[in-house]
Amino acid sequence: MAVSSITTHRNFINGEWVASASGKTFENRNPANTDDLIGVFQDSNTADVDRAIAAAEHAYEDWRLVPAPKRAEILFRAAAMLVERKEQFARDMTREMGKVLNETRGDVQEAIDMTYYIAGEGRRMFGQTVPSELRNKFAMSVRQPLGVCSIITPWNFPMAIPSWKMIPALVCGNTIVFKPSSNTPLSALNFVSVLTEAGIPKGVVNMVTGDAEVGTPMTTDERVKVVSFTGSTRVGRLVNQAAAPTFKKVHLEMGGKNVVMIMDDANLELAVDGCLWGGFGTSGQRCTAASRVVVHEKVYRKFVDAFVTRAKALVVGDGLDPKTEMGPSNSDTQLQTVMRYVKIGQDEGAKAATGGRRLEGGAYAKGHFHEPTVFVDVDAKMRIAREEIFGPVVSVIPCKSLEEAIAIGNGVEYGLSASIYTQDINRAFQAMRDVYTGIFYVNAPTIGAEVHLPFGGTKHTGNGHREAGIAALEVFSEWKSVYIDFSGKLQRAQIDVEQV
Ligand code: NAD
Repeated sequence: MAVSSITTHRNFINGEWVASASGKTFENRNPANTDDLIGVFQDSNTADVDRAIAAAEHAYEDWRLVPAPKRAEILFRAAAMLVERKEQFARDMTREMGKVLNETRGDVQEAIDMTYYIAGEGRRMFGQTVPSELRNKFAMSVRQPLGVCSIITPWNFPMAIPSWKMIPALVCGNTIVFKPSSNTPLSALNFVSVLTEAGIPKGVVNMVTGDAEVGTPMTTDERVKVVSFTGSTRVGRLVNQAAAPTFKKVHLEMGGKNVVMIMDDANLELAVDGCLWGGFGTSGQRCTAASRVVVHEKVYRKFVDAFVTRAKALVVGDGLDPKTEMGPSNSDTQLQTVMRYVKIGQDEGAKAATGGRRLEGGAYAKGHFHEPTVFVDVDAKMRIAREEIFGPVVSVIPCKSLEEAIAIGNGVEYGLSASIYTQDINRAFQAMRDVYTGIFYVNAPTIGAEVHLPFGGTKHTGNGHREAGIAALEVFSEWKSVYIDFSGKLQRAQIDVEQV
Protein backbone atom coordinates (compact mmCIF):
# COMPACT_ATOMS: atom_id res chain seq x y z
CA MET A 1 0.00 0.00 0.00
CA ALA A 2 1.34 3.46 -0.90
CA VAL A 3 2.57 5.35 2.15
CA SER A 4 0.49 8.41 1.18
CA SER A 5 -2.77 6.43 1.65
CA ILE A 6 -1.90 5.57 5.25
CA THR A 7 -3.92 7.50 7.82
CA THR A 8 -2.24 9.06 10.82
CA HIS A 9 -4.71 8.73 13.68
CA ARG A 10 -4.75 11.07 16.65
CA ASN A 11 -5.55 11.03 20.32
CA PHE A 12 -9.01 12.09 21.41
CA ILE A 13 -8.84 14.70 24.16
CA ASN A 14 -11.57 17.08 25.29
CA GLY A 15 -13.72 16.34 22.25
CA GLU A 16 -10.96 16.89 19.68
CA TRP A 17 -8.65 14.65 17.67
CA VAL A 18 -5.19 15.93 18.52
CA ALA A 19 -1.54 15.00 17.89
CA SER A 20 0.65 13.93 20.79
CA ALA A 21 2.91 16.49 22.45
CA SER A 22 5.71 13.96 21.88
CA GLY A 23 5.67 14.48 18.12
CA LYS A 24 6.19 10.70 17.86
CA THR A 25 4.05 8.00 16.26
CA PHE A 26 4.00 4.21 15.95
CA GLU A 27 2.81 1.85 13.24
CA ASN A 28 -0.07 -0.61 13.41
CA ARG A 29 0.63 -3.64 11.18
CA ASN A 30 -1.36 -6.73 10.23
CA PRO A 31 -0.02 -9.80 12.11
CA ALA A 32 -0.99 -12.05 9.19
CA ASN A 33 1.04 -9.92 6.77
CA THR A 34 3.39 -7.36 8.23
CA ASP A 35 3.69 -5.62 4.84
CA ASP A 36 0.13 -4.43 5.44
CA LEU A 37 0.45 -1.12 7.31
CA ILE A 38 -2.99 -0.40 8.78
CA GLY A 39 -2.34 3.04 10.18
CA VAL A 40 -0.07 5.27 12.21
CA PHE A 41 -0.97 6.21 15.79
CA GLN A 42 0.28 8.68 18.38
CA ASP A 43 3.13 7.51 20.60
CA SER A 44 1.97 9.67 23.48
CA ASN A 45 3.62 10.85 26.66
CA THR A 46 2.89 12.22 30.15
CA ALA A 47 1.90 15.65 28.83
CA ASP A 48 -0.91 14.08 26.77
CA VAL A 49 -2.13 12.10 29.78
CA ASP A 50 -2.08 15.26 31.87
CA ARG A 51 -4.31 17.05 29.33
CA ALA A 52 -6.66 14.09 29.09
CA ILE A 53 -7.04 13.81 32.87
CA ALA A 54 -7.66 17.57 33.13
CA ALA A 55 -10.38 17.32 30.46
CA ALA A 56 -11.97 14.32 32.18
CA GLU A 57 -11.87 16.03 35.57
CA HIS A 58 -13.53 19.14 34.18
CA ALA A 59 -16.19 17.19 32.26
CA TYR A 60 -17.03 15.17 35.37
CA GLU A 61 -18.59 18.18 37.07
CA ASP A 62 -21.48 18.18 34.62
CA TRP A 63 -21.61 14.53 33.48
CA ARG A 64 -22.20 13.31 37.04
CA LEU A 65 -25.32 15.52 37.16
CA VAL A 66 -26.83 14.26 33.88
CA PRO A 67 -29.65 11.92 34.94
CA ALA A 68 -28.58 8.29 34.52
CA PRO A 69 -31.49 7.49 32.14
CA LYS A 70 -30.28 10.35 29.91
CA ARG A 71 -26.72 9.08 30.01
CA ALA A 72 -28.13 5.70 29.05
CA GLU A 73 -29.98 7.11 26.03
CA ILE A 74 -26.63 8.07 24.52
CA LEU A 75 -25.33 4.57 25.20
CA PHE A 76 -28.39 2.97 23.56
CA ARG A 77 -27.68 5.10 20.48
CA ALA A 78 -24.06 3.95 20.54
CA ALA A 79 -25.19 0.30 20.69
CA ALA A 80 -27.39 0.78 17.61
CA MET A 81 -24.46 2.36 15.74
CA LEU A 82 -22.23 -0.59 16.66
CA VAL A 83 -24.86 -2.91 15.17
CA GLU A 84 -24.81 -0.93 11.91
CA ARG A 85 -21.00 -0.93 11.69
CA LYS A 86 -20.39 -4.43 13.02
CA GLU A 87 -19.03 -5.92 9.81
CA GLN A 88 -16.58 -3.11 9.08
CA PHE A 89 -15.38 -3.03 12.67
CA ALA A 90 -14.91 -6.82 12.64
CA ARG A 91 -12.81 -6.60 9.46
CA ASP A 92 -10.68 -3.81 10.91
CA MET A 93 -10.19 -5.92 14.02
CA THR A 94 -9.15 -9.08 12.16
CA ARG A 95 -6.67 -7.01 10.19
CA GLU A 96 -4.97 -5.61 13.29
CA MET A 97 -5.50 -8.41 15.83
CA GLY A 98 -5.38 -11.53 13.62
CA LYS A 99 -8.29 -13.63 14.91
CA VAL A 100 -10.73 -15.01 12.34
CA LEU A 101 -13.68 -12.94 11.17
CA ASN A 102 -16.29 -14.98 13.00
CA GLU A 103 -14.48 -14.27 16.24
CA THR A 104 -14.01 -10.55 15.61
CA ARG A 105 -17.72 -10.37 14.76
CA GLY A 106 -18.25 -11.98 18.17
CA ASP A 107 -15.97 -9.39 19.79
CA VAL A 108 -17.99 -6.49 18.35
CA GLN A 109 -21.20 -8.34 19.29
CA GLU A 110 -19.98 -8.55 22.87
CA ALA A 111 -19.51 -4.78 22.90
CA ILE A 112 -23.06 -4.43 21.51
CA ASP A 113 -24.49 -6.80 24.13
CA MET A 114 -22.63 -5.06 26.93
CA THR A 115 -23.70 -1.61 25.79
CA TYR A 116 -27.38 -2.54 25.54
CA TYR A 117 -27.29 -4.46 28.81
CA ILE A 118 -25.52 -1.84 30.91
CA ALA A 119 -27.39 1.07 29.30
CA GLY A 120 -30.47 -0.59 30.80
CA GLU A 121 -28.93 0.09 34.21
CA GLY A 122 -29.51 3.78 33.56
CA ARG A 123 -33.09 3.15 34.69
CA ARG A 124 -32.19 0.74 37.48
CA MET A 125 -28.92 1.11 39.38
CA PHE A 126 -30.88 -0.10 42.35
CA GLY A 127 -29.95 0.86 45.87
CA GLN A 128 -31.67 -0.28 49.06
CA THR A 129 -34.46 1.34 51.01
CA VAL A 130 -34.69 -0.09 54.49
CA PRO A 131 -36.77 0.67 57.57
CA SER A 132 -35.01 2.83 60.14
CA GLU A 133 -34.74 1.59 63.72
CA LEU A 134 -36.14 4.94 64.84
CA ARG A 135 -39.51 6.59 64.29
CA ASN A 136 -39.95 9.28 61.65
CA LYS A 137 -36.69 8.50 59.99
CA PHE A 138 -36.01 7.25 56.46
CA ALA A 139 -33.00 5.18 55.38
CA MET A 140 -31.67 4.30 51.93
CA SER A 141 -28.50 3.76 49.94
CA VAL A 142 -27.65 5.25 46.54
CA ARG A 143 -24.80 4.70 44.10
CA GLN A 144 -22.53 7.65 43.41
CA PRO A 145 -19.84 7.95 40.74
CA LEU A 146 -16.20 8.36 41.69
CA GLY A 147 -14.76 10.70 39.06
CA VAL A 148 -11.99 10.14 36.54
CA CYS A 149 -11.39 6.48 35.62
CA SER A 150 -8.24 5.18 33.90
CA ILE A 151 -9.07 2.33 31.55
CA ILE A 152 -6.10 0.23 30.39
CA THR A 153 -6.75 -2.70 28.07
CA PRO A 154 -4.96 -5.55 26.21
CA TRP A 155 -5.08 -6.51 22.53
CA ASN A 156 -6.90 -9.85 22.53
CA PHE A 157 -10.45 -8.44 22.82
CA PRO A 158 -9.89 -4.99 21.36
CA MET A 159 -13.49 -3.77 21.52
CA ALA A 160 -15.21 -6.12 23.96
CA ILE A 161 -12.87 -5.43 26.90
CA PRO A 162 -12.95 -1.63 26.54
CA SER A 163 -16.76 -1.88 26.44
CA TRP A 164 -16.86 -3.99 29.63
CA LYS A 165 -15.14 -1.15 31.44
CA MET A 166 -16.19 2.05 29.71
CA ILE A 167 -19.93 1.49 29.43
CA PRO A 168 -20.46 0.77 33.15
CA ALA A 169 -18.13 3.66 34.04
CA LEU A 170 -20.19 6.02 31.88
CA VAL A 171 -23.64 4.93 32.96
CA CYS A 172 -22.60 5.45 36.58
CA GLY A 173 -21.57 9.05 35.79
CA ASN A 174 -17.77 8.80 35.67
CA THR A 175 -15.46 10.22 33.05
CA ILE A 176 -12.69 8.33 31.27
CA VAL A 177 -9.09 8.36 30.14
CA PHE A 178 -8.65 5.27 27.95
CA LYS A 179 -5.37 3.71 26.87
CA PRO A 180 -5.81 0.74 24.53
CA SER A 181 -3.04 -1.72 23.64
CA SER A 182 -0.69 -0.38 20.97
CA ASN A 183 -1.26 -3.62 19.04
CA THR A 184 -4.95 -2.89 18.43
CA PRO A 185 -5.55 0.88 18.49
CA LEU A 186 -7.88 0.98 15.46
CA SER A 187 -10.64 -1.00 17.18
CA ALA A 188 -10.31 1.29 20.20
CA LEU A 189 -10.59 4.31 17.96
CA ASN A 190 -13.67 2.82 16.24
CA PHE A 191 -15.31 2.35 19.64
CA VAL A 192 -14.49 5.87 20.85
CA SER A 193 -15.72 7.34 17.55
CA VAL A 194 -19.08 5.65 18.00
CA LEU A 195 -19.45 6.90 21.56
CA THR A 196 -18.62 10.42 20.41
CA GLU A 197 -21.00 10.34 17.45
CA ALA A 198 -23.72 8.98 19.72
CA GLY A 199 -23.46 12.18 21.77
CA ILE A 200 -21.07 11.65 24.68
CA PRO A 201 -20.16 15.24 25.67
CA LYS A 202 -16.64 16.54 25.19
CA GLY A 203 -14.12 15.57 27.83
CA VAL A 204 -16.21 12.65 29.12
CA VAL A 205 -14.29 10.06 27.07
CA ASN A 206 -10.64 10.69 26.21
CA MET A 207 -8.30 8.29 24.42
CA VAL A 208 -4.51 8.44 24.54
CA THR A 209 -2.52 5.85 22.58
CA GLY A 210 0.95 4.63 23.52
CA ASP A 211 2.67 2.28 25.93
CA ALA A 212 3.84 2.25 29.56
CA GLU A 213 4.80 5.92 29.35
CA VAL A 214 1.07 6.61 29.00
CA GLY A 215 -0.14 3.85 31.32
CA THR A 216 2.08 4.77 34.27
CA PRO A 217 0.84 8.35 34.87
CA MET A 218 -2.71 7.04 34.45
CA THR A 219 -2.10 4.91 37.55
CA THR A 220 -0.31 7.50 39.71
CA ASP A 221 -2.10 10.81 39.07
CA GLU A 222 -3.93 12.08 42.16
CA ARG A 223 -6.94 13.20 40.05
CA VAL A 224 -7.67 9.61 38.92
CA LYS A 225 -10.02 7.75 41.28
CA VAL A 226 -10.40 4.35 39.60
CA VAL A 227 -7.99 2.24 37.57
CA SER A 228 -9.53 -0.62 35.63
CA PHE A 229 -6.83 -2.77 34.08
CA THR A 230 -6.90 -5.95 32.01
CA GLY A 231 -3.60 -7.49 30.97
CA SER A 232 -0.78 -9.66 32.24
CA THR A 233 -0.26 -10.49 35.90
CA ARG A 234 3.21 -8.93 35.71
CA VAL A 235 1.90 -5.52 34.61
CA GLY A 236 -1.15 -5.80 36.87
CA ARG A 237 1.15 -6.02 39.86
CA LEU A 238 2.97 -2.85 38.71
CA VAL A 239 -0.37 -1.08 38.27
CA ASN A 240 -1.50 -2.09 41.76
CA GLN A 241 1.74 -0.84 43.31
CA ALA A 242 1.71 2.43 41.35
CA ALA A 243 -1.90 3.18 42.37
CA ALA A 244 -1.49 2.30 46.05
CA PRO A 245 -0.01 5.58 47.39
CA THR A 246 -3.07 7.55 46.24
CA PHE A 247 -5.56 4.87 47.41
CA LYS A 248 -7.27 4.48 44.08
CA LYS A 249 -9.89 1.85 43.56
CA VAL A 250 -8.00 -0.70 41.44
CA HIS A 251 -9.73 -3.36 39.38
CA LEU A 252 -7.39 -5.97 37.90
CA GLU A 253 -8.19 -8.74 35.41
CA MET A 254 -5.03 -10.69 34.61
CA GLY A 255 -3.60 -13.97 33.32
CA GLY A 256 -5.08 -17.45 33.23
CA LYS A 257 -4.12 -21.13 32.97
CA ASN A 258 -7.50 -22.71 32.57
CA VAL A 259 -8.38 -26.36 32.83
CA VAL A 260 -10.79 -28.73 31.12
CA MET A 261 -11.36 -31.95 33.12
CA ILE A 262 -12.58 -34.94 31.13
CA MET A 263 -14.02 -37.81 33.13
CA ASP A 264 -14.30 -41.44 32.03
CA ASP A 265 -18.06 -41.09 31.45
CA ALA A 266 -17.74 -37.97 29.27
CA ASN A 267 -19.20 -37.59 25.81
CA LEU A 268 -15.76 -37.67 24.18
CA GLU A 269 -16.84 -36.25 20.83
CA LEU A 270 -18.29 -33.23 22.59
CA ALA A 271 -15.17 -32.90 24.73
CA VAL A 272 -12.90 -32.94 21.67
CA ASP A 273 -15.02 -30.23 20.01
CA GLY A 274 -14.84 -28.16 23.21
CA CYS A 275 -11.09 -28.56 23.68
CA LEU A 276 -10.45 -27.62 20.07
CA TRP A 277 -12.50 -24.45 20.38
CA GLY A 278 -11.25 -23.65 23.88
CA GLY A 279 -7.59 -24.37 23.13
CA PHE A 280 -7.15 -22.99 19.62
CA GLY A 281 -9.91 -20.36 19.30
CA THR A 282 -8.25 -16.93 19.05
CA SER A 283 -5.01 -18.94 18.51
CA GLY A 284 -5.05 -19.66 22.24
CA GLN A 285 -4.82 -15.94 23.01
CA ARG A 286 -7.77 -15.77 25.38
CA CYS A 287 -7.39 -15.24 29.08
CA THR A 288 -9.90 -18.11 29.37
CA ALA A 289 -8.12 -20.39 26.83
CA ALA A 290 -8.29 -24.11 27.62
CA SER A 291 -4.53 -24.52 27.81
CA ARG A 292 -4.67 -27.58 30.12
CA VAL A 293 -6.75 -30.68 29.51
CA VAL A 294 -6.80 -33.23 32.32
CA VAL A 295 -8.16 -36.58 31.12
CA HIS A 296 -9.18 -39.67 33.07
CA GLU A 297 -6.77 -42.52 32.30
CA LYS A 298 -9.61 -44.81 31.20
CA VAL A 299 -10.39 -42.60 28.19
CA TYR A 300 -7.01 -40.90 27.85
CA ARG A 301 -5.73 -42.64 24.69
CA LYS A 302 -9.06 -42.40 22.90
CA PHE A 303 -9.32 -38.68 23.67
CA VAL A 304 -5.70 -37.93 22.72
CA ASP A 305 -5.98 -39.72 19.37
CA ALA A 306 -9.12 -37.84 18.37
CA PHE A 307 -7.93 -34.47 19.71
CA VAL A 308 -4.52 -34.64 18.02
CA THR A 309 -6.09 -35.67 14.70
CA ARG A 310 -8.46 -32.71 14.81
CA ALA A 311 -5.76 -30.22 15.93
CA LYS A 312 -3.49 -31.36 13.10
CA ALA A 313 -6.27 -30.70 10.58
CA LEU A 314 -6.95 -27.10 11.63
CA VAL A 315 -6.55 -24.65 8.75
CA VAL A 316 -4.16 -21.88 9.79
CA GLY A 317 -4.04 -18.63 7.84
CA ASP A 318 -5.17 -15.06 7.43
CA GLY A 319 -8.27 -14.47 9.56
CA LEU A 320 -9.94 -12.59 6.70
CA ASP A 321 -9.95 -15.75 4.56
CA PRO A 322 -13.25 -17.60 5.19
CA LYS A 323 -11.44 -20.97 5.03
CA THR A 324 -9.15 -20.09 7.94
CA GLU A 325 -9.90 -21.75 11.28
CA MET A 326 -6.98 -20.30 13.26
CA GLY A 327 -5.18 -17.01 12.68
CA PRO A 328 -1.66 -15.86 13.59
CA SER A 329 -0.23 -14.84 16.93
CA ASN A 330 -0.89 -11.15 17.45
CA SER A 331 2.74 -10.02 17.38
CA ASP A 332 6.26 -11.23 16.91
CA THR A 333 6.74 -10.90 20.68
CA GLN A 334 3.80 -13.21 21.31
CA LEU A 335 5.05 -15.70 18.70
CA GLN A 336 8.51 -15.69 20.31
CA THR A 337 6.86 -16.46 23.68
CA VAL A 338 5.04 -19.42 22.12
CA MET A 339 8.25 -20.74 20.56
CA ARG A 340 10.14 -20.28 23.83
CA TYR A 341 7.53 -22.31 25.73
CA VAL A 342 7.48 -25.06 23.11
CA LYS A 343 11.23 -25.41 23.69
CA ILE A 344 10.74 -25.33 27.46
CA GLY A 345 8.16 -28.12 27.12
CA GLN A 346 10.49 -30.22 24.99
CA ASP A 347 13.38 -29.63 27.42
CA GLU A 348 11.10 -30.71 30.28
CA GLY A 349 10.46 -33.97 28.46
CA ALA A 350 6.93 -33.31 27.19
CA LYS A 351 6.03 -34.81 23.83
CA ALA A 352 4.53 -32.67 21.04
CA ALA A 353 2.05 -35.08 19.42
CA THR A 354 1.37 -32.47 16.78
CA GLY A 355 2.74 -29.02 15.98
CA GLY A 356 5.69 -27.50 17.75
CA ARG A 357 6.99 -25.28 14.96
CA ARG A 358 6.56 -21.83 13.56
CA LEU A 359 4.85 -21.82 10.15
CA GLU A 360 7.08 -20.24 7.53
CA GLY A 361 7.24 -19.57 3.78
CA GLY A 362 4.45 -19.12 1.23
CA ALA A 363 1.30 -17.62 2.71
CA TYR A 364 2.97 -17.63 6.14
CA ALA A 365 6.12 -15.76 5.11
CA LYS A 366 5.06 -12.33 6.34
CA GLY A 367 3.01 -13.31 9.40
CA HIS A 368 3.39 -14.55 12.97
CA PHE A 369 2.00 -18.05 12.42
CA HIS A 370 2.51 -21.11 14.60
CA GLU A 371 1.25 -24.67 14.28
CA PRO A 372 -1.53 -25.78 16.62
CA THR A 373 0.49 -27.71 19.18
CA VAL A 374 -0.59 -30.51 21.52
CA PHE A 375 1.76 -31.72 24.23
CA VAL A 376 0.72 -35.13 25.57
CA ASP A 377 1.64 -37.11 28.69
CA VAL A 378 2.41 -33.83 30.40
CA ASP A 379 3.26 -33.79 34.08
CA ALA A 380 1.21 -31.18 35.95
CA LYS A 381 4.40 -29.83 37.53
CA MET A 382 5.96 -28.87 34.19
CA ARG A 383 6.17 -25.17 33.40
CA ILE A 384 4.07 -25.59 30.24
CA ALA A 385 1.29 -26.91 32.49
CA ARG A 386 1.55 -24.09 35.05
CA GLU A 387 2.50 -20.88 33.24
CA GLU A 388 0.42 -18.83 30.84
CA ILE A 389 1.67 -19.22 27.25
CA PHE A 390 -1.07 -17.29 25.43
CA GLY A 391 -0.71 -19.19 22.19
CA PRO A 392 -1.90 -22.30 20.33
CA VAL A 393 -0.35 -24.77 22.77
CA VAL A 394 -2.42 -27.26 24.78
CA SER A 395 -1.01 -29.58 27.47
CA VAL A 396 -2.83 -32.88 27.98
CA ILE A 397 -2.35 -34.39 31.44
CA PRO A 398 -3.55 -37.87 32.51
CA CYS A 399 -5.33 -38.36 35.84
CA LYS A 400 -6.78 -41.26 37.86
CA SER A 401 -9.82 -39.65 39.48
CA LEU A 402 -12.02 -36.59 39.79
CA GLU A 403 -10.22 -35.64 43.00
CA GLU A 404 -6.86 -35.72 41.26
CA ALA A 405 -8.23 -33.69 38.32
CA ILE A 406 -9.51 -31.03 40.73
CA ALA A 407 -6.17 -30.93 42.56
CA ILE A 408 -4.36 -30.44 39.23
CA GLY A 409 -6.93 -27.82 38.21
CA ASN A 410 -6.34 -25.87 41.41
CA GLY A 411 -2.58 -26.38 41.35
CA VAL A 412 -1.65 -23.20 39.47
CA GLU A 413 -1.33 -19.57 40.51
CA TYR A 414 -4.27 -18.49 38.33
CA GLY A 415 -8.00 -18.95 38.84
CA LEU A 416 -10.03 -17.70 35.90
CA SER A 417 -12.02 -20.48 34.24
CA ALA A 418 -12.46 -24.26 34.49
CA SER A 419 -14.71 -26.88 32.99
CA ILE A 420 -15.74 -30.51 33.40
CA TYR A 421 -17.05 -33.01 30.88
CA THR A 422 -19.11 -35.69 32.60
CA GLN A 423 -22.59 -37.21 32.47
CA ASP A 424 -22.65 -37.57 36.25
CA ILE A 425 -24.46 -34.74 38.02
CA ASN A 426 -22.75 -35.54 41.32
CA ARG A 427 -19.29 -35.18 39.82
CA ALA A 428 -20.31 -31.98 38.04
CA PHE A 429 -21.53 -30.37 41.27
CA GLN A 430 -18.53 -31.57 43.26
CA ALA A 431 -16.17 -30.03 40.72
CA MET A 432 -18.23 -26.82 40.57
CA ARG A 433 -17.88 -26.50 44.35
CA ASP A 434 -14.23 -27.47 44.72
CA VAL A 435 -12.52 -25.79 41.78
CA TYR A 436 -11.47 -22.32 42.89
CA THR A 437 -12.05 -20.15 39.82
CA GLY A 438 -14.28 -17.20 38.93
CA ILE A 439 -15.96 -19.03 36.05
CA PHE A 440 -17.00 -22.68 35.72
CA TYR A 441 -18.58 -24.67 32.89
CA VAL A 442 -20.21 -28.09 32.67
CA ASN A 443 -19.99 -29.92 29.32
CA ALA A 444 -18.64 -26.81 27.60
CA PRO A 445 -15.11 -25.44 27.20
CA THR A 446 -13.53 -22.75 29.39
CA ILE A 447 -14.50 -19.94 27.01
CA GLY A 448 -17.90 -18.49 26.22
CA ALA A 449 -18.86 -16.03 28.96
CA GLU A 450 -22.05 -14.01 28.51
CA VAL A 451 -22.22 -10.32 29.42
CA HIS A 452 -24.94 -10.47 32.05
CA LEU A 453 -23.00 -12.59 34.55
CA PRO A 454 -19.89 -11.49 36.46
CA PHE A 455 -16.56 -12.13 34.70
CA GLY A 456 -13.20 -12.42 36.43
CA GLY A 457 -10.89 -14.68 38.33
CA THR A 458 -9.37 -15.64 41.66
CA LYS A 459 -5.79 -15.80 42.95
CA HIS A 460 -3.29 -14.13 40.58
CA THR A 461 -5.97 -13.63 37.92
CA GLY A 462 -7.86 -10.91 39.73
CA ASN A 463 -8.05 -8.80 42.85
CA GLY A 464 -11.60 -9.58 43.88
CA HIS A 465 -13.57 -7.37 41.52
CA ARG A 466 -15.57 -8.59 38.56
CA GLU A 467 -16.53 -7.09 35.26
CA ALA A 468 -19.80 -7.57 33.39
CA GLY A 469 -23.15 -8.32 35.00
CA ILE A 470 -24.35 -6.08 37.79
CA ALA A 471 -20.94 -6.65 39.40
CA ALA A 472 -19.46 -4.12 36.97
CA LEU A 473 -21.37 -1.35 38.74
CA GLU A 474 -19.50 -2.12 41.96
CA VAL A 475 -16.21 -1.09 40.34
CA PHE A 476 -17.50 2.19 38.97
CA SER A 477 -19.74 3.42 41.78
CA GLU A 478 -19.54 3.89 45.52
CA TRP A 479 -22.31 3.46 48.01
CA LYS A 480 -23.69 6.43 49.89
CA SER A 481 -26.03 5.63 52.77
CA VAL A 482 -28.57 8.36 53.38
CA TYR A 483 -30.61 8.95 56.58
CA ILE A 484 -33.44 11.48 56.63
CA ASP A 485 -34.78 12.31 60.04
CA PHE A 486 -38.19 14.01 59.89
CA SER A 487 -38.96 13.78 63.63
CA GLY A 488 -37.82 17.34 64.37
CA LYS A 489 -35.80 16.21 67.38
CA LEU A 490 -32.42 14.62 68.04
CA GLN A 491 -32.75 10.84 67.70
CA ARG A 492 -29.70 8.77 68.55
CA ALA A 493 -29.24 5.46 66.76
CA GLN A 494 -28.53 2.50 69.06
CA ILE A 495 -29.08 4.73 72.12
CA ASP A 496 -32.67 5.96 71.98
CA VAL A 497 -34.08 2.52 71.19
CA GLU A 498 -35.84 2.24 74.56
CA GLN A 499 -38.07 5.27 73.92
CA VAL A 500 -39.19 4.04 70.48
P1 NAD B 1 0.09 -6.44 29.05
O1 NAD B 1 0.05 -6.59 30.52
O2 NAD B 1 1.41 -6.48 28.38
O3 NAD B 1 -0.55 -5.02 28.64
C1 NAD B 1 -1.86 -4.64 29.03
C2 NAD B 1 -2.00 -3.13 28.94
O4 NAD B 1 -1.17 -2.53 29.93
C3 NAD B 1 -1.54 -2.54 27.60
O5 NAD B 1 -2.40 -1.50 27.23
C4 NAD B 1 -0.15 -2.02 27.94
O6 NAD B 1 0.29 -1.00 27.08
C5 NAD B 1 -0.36 -1.50 29.35
N1 NAD B 1 0.84 -1.33 30.16
C6 NAD B 1 2.06 -1.92 30.00
N2 NAD B 1 2.89 -1.52 31.00
C7 NAD B 1 2.18 -0.69 31.80
C8 NAD B 1 2.49 0.03 32.99
N3 NAD B 1 3.68 -0.05 33.57
N4 NAD B 1 1.51 0.78 33.56
C9 NAD B 1 0.28 0.83 33.02
N5 NAD B 1 -0.07 0.19 31.88
C10 NAD B 1 0.89 -0.56 31.28
O7 NAD B 1 -0.91 -7.52 28.44
P2 NAD B 1 -1.23 -7.85 26.91
O8 NAD B 1 -0.06 -8.57 26.32
O9 NAD B 1 -1.74 -6.64 26.22
O10 NAD B 1 -2.48 -8.86 27.07
C11 NAD B 1 -2.33 -10.22 27.35
C12 NAD B 1 -2.60 -10.50 28.81
O11 NAD B 1 -3.89 -10.03 29.17
C13 NAD B 1 -2.61 -11.99 29.13
O12 NAD B 1 -1.91 -12.23 30.32
C14 NAD B 1 -4.10 -12.31 29.33
O13 NAD B 1 -4.38 -13.41 30.16
C15 NAD B 1 -4.58 -11.03 29.91
N6 NAD B 1 -6.03 -10.90 29.77
C16 NAD B 1 -6.80 -11.09 30.88
C17 NAD B 1 -8.19 -11.02 30.79
C18 NAD B 1 -9.06 -11.22 32.00
O14 NAD B 1 -10.20 -10.81 31.96
N7 NAD B 1 -8.58 -11.82 33.07
C19 NAD B 1 -8.79 -10.75 29.56
C20 NAD B 1 -7.96 -10.57 28.45
C21 NAD B 1 -6.59 -10.65 28.56
